Order: sequence, then C-alpha cells, then structure tokens
Amino acid sequence: MSLEEIISKYKSSLCKFLISVFSFTLLAGTNAFGQSSTQNSIESRYEEIVRQIISIQEKTLGIKFRGKEPAVKFEVLEGARHHFANYIIKENTIYLNPFFLDCNIYEIERNPLLENPQKNSYIELPRNVCDQEFIKKLLYHETLHHYFNTFLKTESSGNWLEVVSKKEKDVSLVDKLTAFMIWEGIVQYFLKPQYFQFDNNNWNAVWNSEKLEEKFRLFVYDGGYALVKPILDKGIEAGIRYLIEHPVMATRVDSMSVSFDKLPSYQENALKALSLGNSNKK
Ligand SMILES: [Zn+2]
Repeated sequence: MSLEEIISKYKSSLCKFLISVFSFTLLAGTNAFGQSSTQNSIESRYEEIVRQIISIQEKTLGIKFRGKEPAVKFEVLEGARHHFANYIIKENTIYLNPFFLDCNIYEIERNPLLENPQKNSYIELPRNVCDQEFIKKLLYHETLHHYFNTFLKTESSGNWLEVVSKKEKDVSLVDKLTAFMIWEGIVQYFLKPQYFQFDNNNWNAVWNSEKLEEKFRLFVYDGGYALVKPILDKGIEAGIRYLIEHPVMATRVDSMSVSFDKLPSYQENALKALSLGNSNKK
C-alpha cells in the first residue's frame, strides 16, 4: 500500500471515527466529567498500565527509562495537535481524550500487551471508540515520548525541548517541523513502521508554508524516521545525543520557502562521527 493510499484510508476512517465519537459523546452526555473520584481511580489504573508498558519496552527495545514515571490524565488540551493522546513535557503527563473514560478499563488491562514493537505502530485506526488495542498503542507511543523527555532532562539537554513544548502560535512552522522530526522520528524508530515510505526527493524540494503544513505529518513521522534511523542504528543513546547536540536546520530559499537539502549530508556527517566515536572506544 502506498503512503498516499494509507493517508487517504486514514482520512476517510478518521472521518467515520470522529462521527462515531461525536454520536457516542452525545449519548454518554457529560457523565465522564462529573465524577472526579472515579476519574482519579481510572487515571491511577492507566498509570499502572503505563508502568507495565515501560517494563516491556525496557526488555524488548533495549532502552533504560530514567526519572519518574508519567502521570495519566483525561482532559482535552486546548490547541493540541493530536486528537486522541498527547504527552506534555513540562508536566511529564500523558493526556488522553476523555471519551476513553467510558471504556471498560478491565478489558483494556486484560488485553495482552504486544511485545512486537512493529505491531504497536498505530497506522491502523481504531475499530471503535473503545478499541483496547488502539488505546494500548496510544499509551505505548506516548510512553516513548516520555523516555526521550527524561533522557534529555538527565543529560541536562532540557533546553532542546523548548521548541517542542511551545504553543503552535509561538514558534515558526519550520522550527516546529525540524524539532518534531526528531521528537516523532525517535518514537517511530522504536515502532519500526511497516508501511514506511519517504521519498528522499522531498529533502531537495522547495516548500512554502502552505505545502509544508499539508505535509507536516509526512515530514514529521516518515521523514523523521528516515532521518534518525541510520543514526540510532549506530547506538541509541549516542545517536540521540548527536541529534540534540547538532540541531537539524532548514535552508531558507527565499522569504516564502525553505528546503531541507542539507539533511542528507547532516546524516552522513552523523554516521561518520558516530563510527569514529565507536572506534575510539574500542
Ligand atoms: Zn508522538
């Protein structure tokens, strides 16, 4: 399946899904919002699921989590880019859309955690609002953002996260996009996407902001993965350190447009530096 097909499939299923969510929310009324003690206990159970995911990821992905585990909250965040789930760096919290509150937590807990990272890539859309596998995949993805966040904080590179944390209106699209290529690219690296496709000609093309906004997902997820994969293959922690110490830049072509033509050589330089670093250690 081509990426375009996946995206169009994604869009049409997303529409259907949102319609079903909308009707579901109407039926459910506001009961999910009024019960704070119930909500707190559901949130604690989700936090327990996240702790299980962390231990599975440590075993299967060869990474070591640092710092305090994330909290889970049910709340719609104003201006958030993602509809279902968001990881908020400053609060070390995974925010889930409150429509998941009405799902059966017992069934979600009981649903086996998938140990094969590839199966945790959530390119397929939920079959229904309470698709347990989908909810687990969301948590799996957001937990990997938590890994990257706490890694940076313990490496005292917290400043790097500023751009990712800023609200959409306070940062330029290009700065946001280059930072998000790393932010999402690293998570994608662990998810090993099955339907990955990124045309390297995209790096050399000239992009105005309208086209860039249109292709934001393509650049951030697929472009990010294409960019970071060979670098992290050299060593996960060394690769991440290289990426944050060497900011990824766009080339300004004119006042209206940019290109990412320096990224292939950025990647080559990274691979050279990391190979030297590895041979120095031997
Ligand atoms: Zn993400």
